[in-house]
Parts: sequence; structure tokens; C-alpha cells
Amino acid sequence: MVNRTNYLNKIKTNINNSLSDSTILIRAFDDMGNGFVNNYFVDGSTVLFRNSSEMINNNAKYSYGTHGTPTTSDLCTAISMLEHSNETIITCSGLMALTTSFLCILKPGDHALVVDSVYYPLKRFCKMLLTRFNIHIDFFNPRDEYNLKALFRTTTRLVHLESPCSNTFEILDIYAICRYIKQRSNKCIISMDNSWATPLIYKPITQGVDISICALTKYPTGCSDIVVGSISITKKLSSIFNTVKELIGITSNGYDCFSLLKNLKTTIVRLYFHHNSIIKICKYLRSSCHVAYVLSPLQPNSPDHRLWKRDYKLSNGIISFVLKGNSLENCRMFLDSLKIFGLGWSWGGYKSLATIADTKHRHFKTNTDPIIRLQIGFEDINDLINDLEKSFQSLNKTNKT
Ligand SMILES: *Cc1c(COP(=O)(O)O)cnc(C)c1O
Repeated sequence: MVNRTNYLNKIKTNINNSLSDSTILIRAFDDMGNGFVNNYFVDGSTVLFRNSSEMINNNAKYSYGTHGTPTTSDLCTAISMLEHSNETIITCSGLMALTTSFLCILKPGDHALVVDSVYYPLKRFCKMLLTRFNIHIDFFNPRDEYNLKALFRTTTRLVHLESPCSNTFEILDIYAICRYIKQRSNKCIISMDNSWATPLIYKPITQGVDISICALTKYPTGCSDIVVGSISITKKLSSIFNTVKELIGITSNGYDCFSLLKNLKTTIVRLYFHHNSIIKICKYLRSSCHVAYVLSPLQPNSPDHRLWKRDYKLSNGIISFVLKGNSLENCRMFLDSLKIFGLGWSWGGYKSLATIADTKHRHFKTNTDPIIRLQIGFEDINDLINDLEKSFQSLNKTNKT
């Protein structure tokens, strides 16, 4: 078998590290041995050693399925190249990538700062599990940089960012926050949930973040058929993350990794399509008399527009809004009238989805509850707008009678 690591290094050095993401994904992950466009697939538990020396001295490239296979390590290499990280660990879900990172960094007595509009299941993990281990967590206001500064302690070991934030899409100035934290402490680690953008749109590690996490389940997968997460880290974290990975037994499914590596090659095309659709949906919602306000950094009057333009330029396919005459009852009636949008969790696939996003757990509000979140998929945009329009109108009719 051709050694893929050497092969990738050769590609990188030959072209002076100037290859763009799309070229790397397509050029580097074909089948070198047989000449097929897609790479071969390997999965398994047992690895056969060529002799006892390899077995006892532990110096074979692969030793057991849970430690990695050619297929899982190809996906790790691809994500690392996109994230500009030293290495990447694949986990069985995006949530597990987040919680594992917290477990790697924090110990009893430590303090962590987490953005208040964070992905809610992570907040639940902090409040219900980490507090049992005497780890203190504060949640800072994404709209107030002084709040983070005031809450920072000498015992703060982890600052966790998410940008744009879940459901309401507040954008943090990641570069400025990283610079500030590094001035205050050389012991504090910065992690970031990069699921909204994926490493194709934004590369947190190049901005000073130490741990970049992506729910690959979303746009990288693109078909709502796989649940996988990634943790990409800088060199200084390699030892602790690999130790914890082995101690816990974190492993990933070969079929999922194979499928993901294939889907990664088309992710940027899908993101461009989502971007163009979301511009149209944003325009429609802003001009609708049924909508009180829209939550999206794409709007020129959004407080996040400047940072979105500076750091992202592209959007994914999600947007939220608040109904005029907002109530849970009206939101439910609206959802129940939709014919093309499905009602379902998650995002990133080809199917358009609508959901009521719960923001009740937040200490700092930028919206009135409840909000409706849409994921715009690949159905015809005019059909989607008609579906929204009809649901708005049915709401009006019901409220009048
Ligand atoms: C969905 C999501 C996750 C979790 O991903 P799963 O693979 O579904 O566990 C993490 N962070 C954000 C921002 C998400 O939207």
C-alpha cells in the first residue's frame, strides 16, 4: 500500500503549500494505488502484524480498529488540512466532540467561560454534569465584550466560543477575543464550535483558537444520513487529547468517515447554493408583513453584518425570525400549515426544515421567545416562498375567525 502521509506531504511541498481547499480535497484523496477517483475503503477491528516485533514494540502504523484505520485517518487528514490544525480526532457526534474537549481541558476547581447563546445540549452538559465535578461555569453575553472580560478569572482554564451563535446568529470577534485572553493568561485554552461555517468558510485556528470543533453531521455530510463530529487541535494539545481519546475509547465508524470524505468534496458547492437561497429567503422575510423581525447576519442593518462580511462572506442555509403577534400557539399553527418544509431537528441537508428554536435558557436575550428557525434546502426557492406565504396567510385567517 502506498503511504498516504508521505504522499500528502509530497503534494503539499511540491506546490509550496499554496493549494486551495477544493484542490486539496480533490487532488489528495483519490486512490493512488489503483487510479480510481475515489479512495479505497478499509474498515475493521483486528490488524495483522507482520512479525512479533511489530506487535510487541507497537511500531506498526495501524494496530487496532479503535486506534484508526486508513479510512478514518484519511478523514482526519482532510479535516486537519481544512482547519489548518496539527491533527483531528473524529467522534461519534458533534455533541461528543464538544463534551470530550471540555473533559480533556477541565479539572476540579477550574473555571470555564461559555458564550450564553451556545448550542443548548452543551449548556445542559455544563450545568448538569460538569458542576458535579466542582467545575465552575459562567455564561457570557455575546453582545457585550466587557461581560467576558469581567467574568474572566485567574482560574479560567477554558473559554468556549460559538460563532455565529446557535439559532440567533450573534457573531463574536474571534480574533480580538483570542488576543485578549492570551494577554490575560497563558494557561487558558480557547475552543470554538465552527459548525455554522465549517472549515471551508472559516478557520478558527488561524485566528488564535486552540480547539476547533465541527458537527460534521451538518453541512459536510449534507444528506442528513450521518452523525459525526470533529475536534481539530494545535500541537500543544496533542498529548492530552490523544491520551483521553484512548482512555475513553473514542472511535468512529469507517463507513461514515468514508461517506463524509466523499461528501466533503462537494460541500463548498452546496454552501454556495445555500448562500444564494438564503439571500432570497432573507429578502422575502424582511418584506413580509407577518414577520416582526429577522435574525440573520446577512442583513445590512444587523449588528453582526460587519463581522460577517469581514470573517465569513458566505452564509450557510439557516435563518430565524419572530412572528408578528408572536406566541407559541401562532408558531405551532404556522409550522403545522407548512407543506414543503419538514418539521425536524438539525440542518445541513437537502431538505428544507422548520422548527421552533428554544431560547428560554438564555440569560441574555436578543429576541422575544419563541423564534422560528428555517433550514433552506434544495427544493425550488419559489415553491419554498409560496409554502411560507400560504402558512402566514392561514395564520391570519385563523386569528381573524
Ligand atoms: C448540531 C450541532 C452540534 C451537535 O452535532 P451532532 O452531530 O448533532 O451531535 C453541535 N454544535 C452545533 C452548533 C450544532 O448545531
